[in-house]
Amino acid sequence: MHKFTVLVVEDEKNISDFISKILSAHNYRVSCASTGAEALSLSTSLCPDIILLDMGLPDLDGMEIIQRVRTWSGCPIIVISARTQEDDKVRALDAGADDYLTKPFGTSELLARIRTSLRHSSKISSNNGLPQQPYRAKGLEIDFFKRIISIEGKAIHLTPIEYKIVAFLAQNSGKVMTYSAVMNNVWGPYAESDNKILRVNMANIRRKLEKNPAQPVYIFTEVGVGYRMVDDEDNS
Ligand code: CA
Repeated sequence: MHKFTVLVVEDEKNISDFISKILSAHNYRVSCASTGAEALSLSTSLCPDIILLDMGLPDLDGMEIIQRVRTWSGCPIIVISARTQEDDKVRALDAGADDYLTKPFGTSELLARIRTSLRHSSKISSNNGLPQQPYRAKGLEIDFFKRIISIEGKAIHLTPIEYKIVAFLAQNSGKVMTYSAVMNNVWGPYAESDNKILRVNMANIRRKLEKNPAQPVYIFTEVGVGYRMVDDEDNS
């Protein structure tokens, strides 16, 4: 099972250390950013499953980060702030934040908010077309809820980015997905326009999935266009 990736955006080191320690102990993968610029850069390179965002950062206002992330990602954002004014909470939620934690908060409250936001976001995705049923083709199976990929019942270990690429292609199986569609879905529009990083990841994915990576049976290259994943057997 893939761990969920949490991006913690917080300039006060003691608070960010406190959150990291709790989340790591509860089986989340944690990355930290201490400035708004770093947060925007990590939100595209890491593709986190959830963002915990302090509103008062040294360089950018938290509102700006919410607005920028929301232009390309539905990833849940939980705002963390010392501010207690209702106005700020409403502004953050209106801008697209999912929830709000006011400092100081306890461990159980933090964990409960994260669980709820993740559950809610997977429900939203399923309403937007995330298949309820696992993807199955030629012995390959993807369980989108458990995030497990297996071939003939044997688990395949992918990095989080590799998993996102394969899951996106599987959710659109049978259709060609352009390089830029995959890049936008996985890395966001601030990703490099060059698709080298995608090709490198695809080479690694093929080494893990395909018996003969030069003659793939699961993910095909449409030269100059993108990739097409073999159609789900239940849909064909
Ligand atoms: Ca702060």
